[in-house]
Amino acid sequence: MAKNKTASPALFPMQDTPALSGLARAAAQAPLDSTGCLTEYRPLVSRSILNRTASRRGLPFTHAINPYRGCEFACRYCYARYTHEFLELHDPADFEHKIYFKQNAAWLLEQELRSIKPGTEIAFGTATDPYQPIERRNRVTRSLLQVFARHSGLRLGLITKSTLIARDLDLLRQVAASNALTIHITVTTTDTHLARLLEPRAPRPDLRLRTLARLRQAGIRAGILCSPLMPGINDTRSSIAAVGKAAAEAGASFLAAGALFLKPCSQPTFFRFVEENFPAHVAAYQRRYAESAFATPEYRKRVAEIVAAVCHEHKLGHRFSDQPTGGAMPAHPQSLVAIQPWLPFTQK
Ligand code: SF4
Repeated sequence: MAKNKTASPALFPMQDTPALSGLARAAAQAPLDSTGCLTEYRPLVSRSILNRTASRRGLPFTHAINPYRGCEFACRYCYARYTHEFLELHDPADFEHKIYFKQNAAWLLEQELRSIKPGTEIAFGTATDPYQPIERRNRVTRSLLQVFARHSGLRLGLITKSTLIARDLDLLRQVAASNALTIHITVTTTDTHLARLLEPRAPRPDLRLRTLARLRQAGIRAGILCSPLMPGINDTRSSIAAVGKAAAEAGASFLAAGALFLKPCSQPTFFRFVEENFPAHVAAYQRRYAESAFATPEYRKRVAEIVAAVCHEHKLGHRFSDQPTGGAMPAHPQSLVAIQPWLPFTQK
């Protein structure tokens, strides 16, 4: 990731801004900070960092934090691509290549936590991975954890695919000492080749599992999120069982999973992936997601039964086992919405 503030022209020229307003205007006017591999990083002026969730789906947390806009991990199934549309960036690939980091995030959080009550459930990383590559240098997520380490009584959830979270073990332990903290590491498959196709720029599954083991050894509650489950790709019993076995061997506190949630803006990217790698499934996917972004109830029930059996076999808990009120459910493009219909399964 090359820091390059002066020499390199923007990979993607910024647009004229007269017709833009609000967030889109701020994004269009954000100066180039640095570049990476086909990626630009820009600071984004932000008015707030702790956002109240507006969803009507009854999510089990009330507030969300996303230090970044866009995500370089570039998962083929990521439904959060729509969030770049708020910046008037409508090419789905922009989500992977134009990354914005929020300015003054720690200061904003410190101010906003003053009006937050103890017990508030805050999900960290609801739209983008808080430990994507830019975090190694920019440390926005770390700065936010430093703020949380000075507070107590909150219920915090964080989700990531990144091994970089291990850098912050010291802080995570401090946060967990005075707040209820749950970490979710996403592993959709133990098949490295498939993971590279699905999640091109995320760390290998074995490295994520090793990171989970480190979190557990540090005494932090952490489990595996096997989401999204995608028909014909990673939803067989043997595939889920392999993730469950690896999770148990790494000492996971729990295993959870959810079915693929595919908004229209993400369909071109995902369908192209299916065409290239699972051509026999293209028609079925197009049919299945033509009318709804959600998988069918029958499908969700079927895979929920598989996950429950795998959890039972490997004595894996569920995410709410120590959080009877629902807990600080972590959020993520592939867990937030997709898992919600599973609550009857995970809470029984
Ligand atoms: S699914 Fe998560 S890790 Fe993957 S691109 Fe989307 S936000 Fe990033």
